[in-house]
Amino acid sequence: MIRPNNIWQAHDFECLCGMRHSQPIKEIAIYKGALKKIGKVREDLGSRYNKGLIIIDSMIYSLIGDNIKAALQEGNVAYKLCLFDTPQVLPDEASIVKIMVDMDETIDFLIAVGSGAINDLARFISSRCHIPYISIPTAASMDGYSAEVSLLVLNGIKKTISATYPMAIYADIDILKNAPASLVAAGFGDLICKKTAAFDWRISNLINGESYCQNTVDVVNEVVEKTIENALKISQRDEEAIKTLAEGLMISGLSMHWVGKSRPAAGAEHHLAHFIGMKAMMDHKHTHLHGIEVAVMTLVIIEVYKEILSQDFQSVNVEAAFEKSLNKEEYEVKIKEIYQDSASQIFKENENKIFDKDKWIAHGNKVKGSMTQIKKEIQPKIPDSNRIVEVLKSMGAPSSPAELGLSKEALKEAILYAKEVRNKYTILEIAEYLGCLEEVAEKVVEKMETCK
Ligand SMILES: [Zn+2]
Ligand SMILES: [Zn+2]
Repeated sequence: MIRPNNIWQAHDFECLCGMRHSQPIKEIAIYKGALKKIGKVREDLGSRYNKGLIIIDSMIYSLIGDNIKAALQEGNVAYKLCLFDTPQVLPDEASIVKIMVDMDETIDFLIAVGSGAINDLARFISSRCHIPYISIPTAASMDGYSAEVSLLVLNGIKKTISATYPMAIYADIDILKNAPASLVAAGFGDLICKKTAAFDWRISNLINGESYCQNTVDVVNEVVEKTIENALKISQRDEEAIKTLAEGLMISGLSMHWVGKSRPAAGAEHHLAHFIGMKAMMDHKHTHLHGIEVAVMTLVIIEVYKEILSQDFQSVNVEAAFEKSLNKEEYEVKIKEIYQDSASQIFKENENKIFDKDKWIAHGNKVKGSMTQIKKEIQPKIPDSNRIVEVLKSMGAPSSPAELGLSKEALKEAILYAKEVRNKYTILEIAEYLGCLEEVAEKVVEKMETCK
């Protein structure tokens, strides 16, 4: 059994679930002063790390640029600067070219100093140029520092592109504690959602036999609990509490490496968040930080769980549920209407979606037959929404769909169609097979409207 006290060293281990889990990031340091490790990079990672390219924006540079340079000089590590002087770096073609131009042939590794875009850019360039990179996070704002994909804006459209992971992450609490409040709230949001993500994973395990690791769920859940306990201290920037949050996010990131998929970290709440983010971009509206959208959508999914698990499963008529569902032609029309230019991508994602009546009913009966077990396991573990709302409010973050700018209609549409975003089985699929998705969506929308 692995536990957080030795988790950073757990690179390759036999798990109680019967699988072998591994993670490739050589060094993860999360403590006050961890930044100084950049000067000792050769000790951590090997002798080839002689000259680094510091990728940083001017705002962060004015705050910690001197500290980074001092740490490198102390360790006798050469460096060059790639400074973005725009207030917000976009992970787009122009930024990629800027880094490539600054990255001359003397550079051995990249040092990404930032929270979002800078890491996306470094991950991508690192993978395409086969040059290692080190991440110095500036905010505990999401669990993606150890990710292997980059979110890039190409031709003006957000795309997830395969990339590579950092060789080391040096997360300095002295830096993280000074991050803007909105980023800290986003980090909290991207962590509390793990509870509903784990429910969705277990559901797919019970119904579809998808591989599942209870040990991973338990380890992640432990850090989520610890973060919730310390939540109010996080908003007060207590150093230990910020460390707890950063460790939690890092463990969540690692857990995806262990099981080779995003299951422990993302479920239906992430589908809803991606959906509303995509819709906002289509309508040229303001988008929110990933973790903020995820936090509010976790509140929505908690209500979805409560509604579905309170249904009378025995009286479900699976055949009637099939008659209510969209046939292939109706589905295609609807998806084109909702997803517009992204429709073809959605069809590809859902190429195995069941439309055949016999198969649909057979699966529906399997869902129906699993519901007693699902209810027994999950209902007692549903998190307390009020506690989450209280924490978000204390951080000055949005805590309702309305505060994200979502109308009742927009939220209902998200609950009905967000599941198509990914081919990943969640509570929203269950609702469809039980024939109650529309009814649940309506009830949840009303509930979210009244409880602010
Ligand atoms: Zn396992
Ligand atoms: Zn996330």
